[in-house]
Amino acid sequence: MVPGGAYTLAMAMHRLGRDVVWSADFGTDLFSGEVLAAARAEGLVETAFRHHPFPVRSLTVALSSPSDRAMVSYQDPVTHEPLVPLLHRHRPRALMLPQLRWDAEVLEASQAARRLGTLVVMDCHDTPVTLDDPAVRRALAHVDVFTPNVAEALRLTGAVDLDEAIAELAALVPTLVVTRGSDGAAAVRDGKRHDVPAVAVRAVDTTAAGDCFNAGFVHGLLADWELPACLAAAAACGAAATTGPGSSAALHAEDLDSGQQHP
Ligand code: ADP
Repeated sequence: MVPGGAYTLAMAMHRLGRDVVWSADFGTDLFSGEVLAAARAEGLVETAFRHHPFPVRSLTVALSSPSDRAMVSYQDPVTHEPLVPLLHRHRPRALMLPQLRWDAEVLEASQAARRLGTLVVMDCHDTPVTLDDPAVRRALAHVDVFTPNVAEALRLTGAVDLDEAIAELAALVPTLVVTRGSDGAAAVRDGKRHDVPAVAVRAVDTTAAGDCFNAGFVHGLLADWELPACLAAAAACGAAATTGPGSSAALHAEDLDSGQQHP
């Protein structure tokens, strides 16, 4: 078993040398034990870990095969540590939300983050919604960087043409990044579009490419790199993630060095 989901994001940021506070819940289920062991072996700080005397959700397990990937999500409800106090306690430079959410907790957290000058980065993670839902638009209004993949961008907007989808989404957030798998990625900021090709690698398993891409991108933003350099670092991290089975196993610090060499 290889841990995936938010773990990948935390692990990748950590391997890029960033201090990471990962808000995570662990329970008595088998997967909790595996992910906790991986997080400890990785050296992630445990400040925001919570332990429950019952099985929990919030763990996504990636089952890899050479041709495709499958995700298994456990959805038993658990009360997360509220995000706003966490933000005030740790004052992070970036709040990375691995899933498009529009509930009160995330809305309050992204508003609080903005007041603190914290960059709000939101992924989509296959959330089955469209922009027809005003609550989704309201949530995106508090996001600085939004990072759907192609399928998600098309579904959110209902567009058949990717350029159309990109234009519509770019009007909603300061920085949009649409990842396009082995076709690279497109970003729009200040009305200007930047495209980056994928780094040519022998891809074995694309699980978690998006999470690792995002880690590289945010790492660049926090280092005040220009957008093309952030995209290049992101593409290096995304490609590195595909070179081995599973997510975290494939990503090594030396793979990420190419991202760190940018100005
Ligand atoms: P997600 O995992 O969210 O669906 P993508 O599949 O679009 O995201 O991948 C994210 C990024 O990872 C891409 O924009 C690209 O830079 C990189 N990537 C993904 N697949 C490959 C691949 N086969 N070869 C090289 N880079 C890849």
